[in-house]
Amino acid sequence: MFLEPHFKGQRSGWIEVICGSMFSGKTEELIRRLKRARIANLKVEIFKPKIDTRFHETQVVSHDANAIASTPIDHSSDLLKLTEGVSVVGIDEAQFFDTELTVHCQQLALRGMRVIVAGLDMDFRGQPFGPIPHLLAVAEYITKVHAICPHCGNLATHSYRLSKEESTVLLGEKGQYEPRCRTCYHLGGALDQRHPDLNILPEDAM
Ligand code: ZN
Repeated sequence: MFLEPHFKGQRSGWIEVICGSMFSGKTEELIRRLKRARIANLKVEIFKPKIDTRFHETQVVSHDANAIASTPIDHSSDLLKLTEGVSVVGIDEAQFFDTELTVHCQQLALRGMRVIVAGLDMDFRGQPFGPIPHLLAVAEYITKVHAICPHCGNLATHSYRLSKEESTVLLGEKGQYEPRCRTCYHLGGALDQRHPDLNILPEDAM
């Protein structure tokens, strides 16, 4: 489990990335860290891209309904304007942000902020997603979280799209995606027929 680092005699901030497939607990982990920062009396602000309104306009909500108030923003440059006096910046669904997110996170860290970014590392095609690979390269701390593959019980790293919709941005409603391990992901639709009930995810896989 990630524990907050202590820097002695150093004013610089840092970047943490929490990444993984869908239903891997990224947002849960983000919320856990932000709540601990609040307990430490640090000023915390949370942002998400305006595109992600699947559960609630102004809250970061995980699949198990843990929630924390957040600000939806259009562009990552808004972070620079909206974080005056903030110590800890949380960013959820970061894969949907513009590619300049990496630069702006680094600017926040240089201003002394702790920046915690959560997002999908791969899209449903298995390709690196948006600014996440670049953030992984520049972050001080990386946590890759995993779901459980409902077909074989191994750790799931991929987000398999059950629907035939082809656009990259199809927000994660229950039943449209399932987490899969590498092998089951590559077996693709063959598994859909063998396991027709798995469109509904078991609660503990989320
Ligand atoms: Zn599997």
